[in-house]
Amino acid sequence: MSHPCSHTDAITRVRAPRDVCEACVEIGGEWVHLRQCLECGRTLCCNSSPNQHMSGHFRETAHPVMRGAMPGDAWTWCFVDDANIREAPGGWETYDPYLEAGATAARDHLRSGGTADPSDDLVTPEGFPLGEWFAYVRDAHEEGALDERDEDLVESIDGWRW
Ligand SMILES: [Zn+2]
Ligand SMILES: [Zn+2]
Ligand SMILES: [Zn+2]
Repeated sequence: MSHPCSHTDAITRVRAPRDVCEACVEIGGEWVHLRQCLECGRTLCCNSSPNQHMSGHFRETAHPVMRGAMPGDAWTWCFVDDANIREAPGGWETYDPYLEAGATAARDHLRSGGTADPSDDLVTPEGFPLGEWFAYVRDAHEEGALDERDEDLVESIDGWRW
């Protein structure tokens, strides 16, 4: 699931995001979450919003990379790869935040004596659906859908077993 993202040359130094969807404001629309294009800097609305202006912006302009523009957002998305991306030592790469968050939660769970075969409805005290994650990771492993880095990450968890 991780591979290099080659679309980040498009990223420019953009201004801080606005606190409105610039396209909704023009038509009197409403939005749920805000996103910012990292090529031209426009702040537009997410796919949970009726007008889905950021996806529309990608289709119209092919500007490939956006980031979350809500307070506390710290993620970047490549439309071409259809994946979260981040800076890494060798350049930008895609990654799976769900897989990584689950690996951290599973490590804590097993370290504190939790079972390696939790029920599907196990949720951590922090609210992470860890039972679902175990099932997801094992299914993906069975199907050969995990890449080597993801496999290594999961196998590095003390007490892990497939
Ligand atoms: Zn990309
Ligand atoms: Zn909008
Ligand atoms: Zn743009």
